[in-house]
Amino acid sequence: MRSEFLSFSPPFVDEEEIRGVAEVLGSGWISRGPVVARFEEEFSQQVGAPAALGLNSGTAGLHLALQLIGVGPGDEVILPTMTFCSCANVVEHLGARPVLVDVTDDTLNIDPVAVEKALTDQTRAIMVVHFGGHPAEMDLLLEISESHGLQVIEDAAHAFPASYRGKVIGSSRRMTAFSFYATKNLTTGEGGMLTGDPDLLERAKALSLHGMSAGAWNRYSQEAPWRYDVVEPGYKYNMTDVQAAIGRAQLSKLEFMDLRRREVVSMYAEGLGDLEGVQLPSEKKHVTSAWHLYPIRVHPKLVSGGRDVFIQRLKGQNIGASVHFIPLHLYQFYRDKYDYSSHDFPVAHRAFERLVSLPLHPGLSDGDVSDVIEAVKLVATKG
Ligand SMILES: *Cc1c(COP(=O)(O)O)cnc(C)c1O
Repeated sequence: MRSEFLSFSPPFVDEEEIRGVAEVLGSGWISRGPVVARFEEEFSQQVGAPAALGLNSGTAGLHLALQLIGVGPGDEVILPTMTFCSCANVVEHLGARPVLVDVTDDTLNIDPVAVEKALTDQTRAIMVVHFGGHPAEMDLLLEISESHGLQVIEDAAHAFPASYRGKVIGSSRRMTAFSFYATKNLTTGEGGMLTGDPDLLERAKALSLHGMSAGAWNRYSQEAPWRYDVVEPGYKYNMTDVQAAIGRAQLSKLEFMDLRRREVVSMYAEGLGDLEGVQLPSEKKHVTSAWHLYPIRVHPKLVSGGRDVFIQRLKGQNIGASVHFIPLHLYQFYRDKYDYSSHDFPVAHRAFERLVSLPLHPGLSDGDVSDVIEAVKLVATKG
């Protein structure tokens, strides 16, 4: 057994991020400024986005995206139950109704058949979440949205960098929200990026800074006028130059970070492939996954006490693990308000009882990965 606890997902930062932040702190401008603009350009280039807007979270991106496509009171937004709570929370913030649907068993992404069944006259949009970094079936989802006149927004919190049938996630004009939270593939501490239609993003930029008119961010510089206007009641959602400095340093390491994730994934596939009672995640031929997560599914009878005990035993072996996600229909607020039951989501429910996310990050050494494999085998065979 390894002697030190292996953390589930520590940030992968070094001197480069520290230098970037120190430069910004010494520059005399630490809020939204030129470094955010630079990071937006570099990020756009990386995914081939028509435009990008730096924000203080991925959730802010989802909220703005929904508002910009016109979601409001009385509307319904269809989204998968197998996702993070903020996906549904932002729908509530807009006075609309989040309509949860089941996922497909293979990738745990939103099930296009379930989407069709959930359509009503009130349906306004579909929020597609690329679970674990594996792109959802965009062709089928876009076909449904087009034939019913619906909007689609993408939650790409896990999907950087990823592609579907050769198209990079974030390269379309659809509003697509990325997260740079501490555990995500690229971090800025906290932060996010919204990509998509340049005109909508222009409005999003104002909304991200109180609804102040364009250019108000630099109203304290020598050249800029002090006067500004408020064009609509916005939010405080902007990214800062300090965050962007971390993001730029992270971006310069993207190739390595992505490669290392994929190496760890192949080591897991090789080391755990034959293990009875353990189902591994996979990558479909027509996509490139960002491999944000490595969610295995453990048969409930493998260890007495099931998945929860499995995780406890892994921790006993000094291996950190987690669960992604507790399906949204199980949370008190959504369960009570909409009267959801687990019978409505058989695939997500069955998966939830089995899911265990193993450590997957670029800082894992070959030795760390072997330790995880040995610990999983030990717990799976000895209980
Ligand atoms: C992390 C995450 C978010 C929210 O991102 P924040 O930057 O933490 O606001 C949204 N959706 C999914 C699927 C996530 O994992």
